[in-house]
Amino acid sequence: MDKQQLLYEGKAKKVYATADPDLLVVEYKDDATAFNGLKRGQIADKGLMNNQIAAHFFRVLAGNGVPSHFVRVLSGREMLVKRLSILPVEVVVRYIAAGSLSKRLGLAEGTPLPSPVLEFYYKKDELGDPLVNEYHIRVLGLAAPQQVAEISGQALQVGKLLTAYLREKAIVLVDFKLEFGLFHGQVLLGDEISPDTCRFWDAVSGEKLDKDRFRRDLGGVGEAYAEVLRRLTGGEPERNVESNN
Ligand code: UDP
Repeated sequence: MDKQQLLYEGKAKKVYATADPDLLVVEYKDDATAFNGLKRGQIADKGLMNNQIAAHFFRVLAGNGVPSHFVRVLSGREMLVKRLSILPVEVVVRYIAAGSLSKRLGLAEGTPLPSPVLEFYYKKDELGDPLVNEYHIRVLGLAAPQQVAEISGQALQVGKLLTAYLREKAIVLVDFKLEFGLFHGQVLLGDEISPDTCRFWDAVSGEKLDKDRFRRDLGGVGEAYAEVLRRLTGGEPERNVESNN
């Protein structure tokens, strides 16, 4: 599937059209940003690693009855996906207090939450992606109540599946962010699932294996992403995948 014109370039990915109007090529970049674009950098091979980590998670989810936009890997840093009309709502699921939740509610980072916390953020760079609730989503017309119920259910199901899967790899899933879109009217999981969009802590040492290493200048950023990929697939990033998966 050849990529055609560039449709969109975001902070971490480029999206290209293909000859099929229902399919897009996503190319994962090495660029890293944080704090709504205020901090910028490059992480060598991040694009390769995130493409392969995200593909792995999407396959695990598909095998457990959660479909997504993922179709197949095209090359080291590219995947073929279904073309979604993305809902402008980010869905965050949390199991352990960290990041903005710790700040907002005064909970020490690492405090286990007695039950999962589900949050919505309005995808709007100019506003810094504010926290919103179902009433805000409704009055802004970001998604229909039925769609909000659907994405909430899917996000919690993704969290349950990935928590159990990662536990086997000695990784604690602390929190993660998902995006959903519509594909011919159906709500489908989109975007990516990677150390850019999740907090992963080593189950034994508690070491951070995610983008917090970049956000907080902890060093060893690329090594952490490579470690996640290694624990998931048992291997190093493949530079030239010609796969039929
Ligand atoms: N997250 C993300 N994109 C965003 C904001 C958050 O992927 O624009 C992810 C982040 O990696 C973490 C979770 O969502 O896994 C919760 O992030 P939080 O609200 O704590 O914000 P942060 O402190 O990361 O800015």
